[in-house]
Parts: sequence; C-alpha cells; structure tokens
Amino acid sequence: TWSSVPQGPPDAILGVTEAFKRDADPKKMNLGVGAYRDDNGKPYVLEAVKKAEAILLEQNLDKEYAGITGVPDFTKAAAKLAYGDESPVLSNLAITQSISGTGALNIGANFFSTFYPHAKNIYVPNPTWGNHNAIFSRAGLKVEKYGYFDKSTNGLNINAMLEDIKNAPKNSIVLLHACAHNPTGVDPTQEQWNEIAQVVKDQGHFPFFDMAYQGFASGDCTKDAYALRKFVADGHQVVLSQSFAKNMGLYGERAGSFSIVCADADEKSRVESQLKILIRPMYSNPPIHGARLVNTVLNTPELKQLWLDEVKTMAERIISMRTKLRNHLEADFGSKKNWEHVTNQIGMFCYSGMTPEQVDKIKDDWHVYLTRDGRISMAGVSSGNVKYLAEAIHNVTKD
Ligand code: PMP
Repeated sequence: TWSSVPQGPPDAILGVTEAFKRDADPKKMNLGVGAYRDDNGKPYVLEAVKKAEAILLEQNLDKEYAGITGVPDFTKAAAKLAYGDESPVLSNLAITQSISGTGALNIGANFFSTFYPHAKNIYVPNPTWGNHNAIFSRAGLKVEKYGYFDKSTNGLNINAMLEDIKNAPKNSIVLLHACAHNPTGVDPTQEQWNEIAQVVKDQGHFPFFDMAYQGFASGDCTKDAYALRKFVADGHQVVLSQSFAKNMGLYGERAGSFSIVCADADEKSRVESQLKILIRPMYSNPPIHGARLVNTVLNTPELKQLWLDEVKTMAERIISMRTKLRNHLEADFGSKKNWEHVTNQIGMFCYSGMTPEQVDKIKDDWHVYLTRDGRISMAGVSSGNVKYLAEAIHNVTKD
C-alpha cells in the first residue's frame, strides 16, 4: 500500500541533532536546536518551575480534561504577561490555550484561512523560522516574503522591510517576530517598530505576532513586549501566538496560547465560538500540566519574581557568551573579519554569516553542528567550549 510513499528529507533543525548524536567525538558541539543550556551544557529546569511543580503535587489535583480552550487561569495570566496587566484589550480578547507556539500558529493559520475576508497572503520575514512556511501553506495561505536581513551588515534592512510591506496588496497578513527574531537574532529598534506599525496601518494590513522568546531578547519581559503593545496602543487588532517553551524552559510541556484582539464583547464571543469549533476536531483539548505550571508561576508573586530573575539570568548568560565568542575570535585567533554582529544580535541565535560550505567544514573538521544557514544557537555555547568554537569558526572562515 505504501510502496509509492517517497522518502522525505530530515527536518533542517532536528536533523542536525540526529547527526550530532551519531558523532562519537568528545569535543562535539550541538548548536542546532534552540534549547537553553546552563554553563555546563546541561538542560536547565527553572527553579520557579520546580517550585511550582512541588505546589501542584501537594494540591493533589485530578487529571480531568480541560475545556477546549484550556485552563482559564493560565490563559488569563498569559494574556497579561504579553499585553500588560492593565491593557484595555484584555476584556475583549478571544484567547485559547494552544499546543505551545507551533500549535498557536496553526490555530491562527486555520482561523485566517477560514474567516479572513480578504486575500489570504501572509508576508513573513526573509529569512524566518522554517516552520512558518510549512504551517501557513498547509493551512492554505499564500506565503510571501518581506525583506529583513541585510547580508552586507548582518543586521536589519529596515528600508527593504518597510518598502515590501508598503508594496504588499492592501489587507495582507504580516507575520512579525515580536522579539529575538529566529534565525537572525536581529530585531527592529523601538523607533523602527513605530514606523513598521504605521506602514502596516496605512496599508490596512493585519499584524500577526509570533512571540516565542518574551524575556529572552533583553532579559526583561516588558521590554520584549514593546512591539506587540505598541501595535495594540496604535489601535491594531492584532493576533498573537505565544509560547512558554523557551522563557519557562517548558519545551516538552507544550504550553502556549493563541489570542485575537476583538472589537467588542459580541465579536469576542463569536470568535471564541469558532476557535472552539476549529480546535475540537484537531486535538479536542490541550494538555494541562504545563499550563498549570505557568499559571502557578505567574500567579504566585514570589515565584513570578524568581522566574523573572531566572529569565534575566538565562538572557545574560547568552549575552556574555556573545562577548566571549567575539573576543576570542578577534583577540586570541586574530580573525580579521568583522564580528560586531555577534554582539549586536540578540536572543538565542547568532546568524553567523558562515556559508553552507563553511558549515559543512566546521562539522567535518571540528565536530560543530549547526544549520546550513549558518545559524548558531548561542544557548549551546558555554565557558567550557566558547574558545574551541571561536577557533573552529576562525579556521573555517579565514580565507
Ligand atoms: N516561533 C518561533 C519563531 C520559534 O523559534 C519557535 C520555536 N523554535 C516557535 C514559534 C514555537 O515553538 P514551540 O512550538 O516549541 O513553542
């Protein structure tokens, strides 16, 4: 029956981990997947999460199904974290729990493809997280690109971004990474966000925010919500995909949310009814444990503070690795290349500028694994291996 099923290619990111696992060299480094590691290179379960887990265990809760839209206290707390405690849009926000950020994007993609009354073009940055293309096109949206990364500076090409958004057909959907852009680590400044919000408004476009790294860019969850809140303040009825995978280290728990700012209570009620109808046949209702953890952290003041401190610590460790990596490249190995972007970029990733051939070489000669676009997951870099990484990068890029 299945003899005609063709072999598919491995996933561009998860395939890197598979290759890494097959390598027996003790110096090997996995800089593929974006999962935080502590300075010993070990996965990190946040203290705030461990404490929340202990509280949950004591509460001896049952394992009944959540409703279709999940754990209500979780979605309320998640919305406040993203939009702000006092945001006026909270009362008319249609929101549902989701299977982490990926699930939220899928709900959004399907909601747009079913209900958005205009042409179903979605503009994503060039480049973007690979899964965006797959998620949106599977849902029947037409994926188009807007200029984003400037190879000559390894920074943002704001003019191309504004120009492409301006030239997109009116009422297009525009996907925006709320902060810590993946894969480039390049974000607009606040002034640039203000301009982007204006152009999106002038063209009648619909902003779709993907917020997978709140807190990871600057270490400050409020600062990292700037773009989202600015659009909301300017009167945009945004939609938002939110993930707690990275900022709470809950990767496998799949805790996220999807929300739509509605015009009034009646619109909210209609939109929520359709979100339920969309979700019910997909997975019926979401997993409860991760949502309970997030809810406990966000609604217990000591744990919330502890968590905010831990987010900051994670973000700062990554920032310190950027500085070390650049220093080793320039001072220890005398690289003549410009490595300013290593410290200018933010969030979990460094878009190194390495070519696919250099990525192959660093894998073959140095046992360093990353995606062929040259993206380095800085979370996998630690005090123990940063110098080795600099030596490896220098050797494959020096001529
Ligand atoms: N959006 C972006 C830009 C991401 O980088 C990720 C995680 N790699 C996600 C969404 C979703 O991740 P998850 O489904 O694990 O929450």
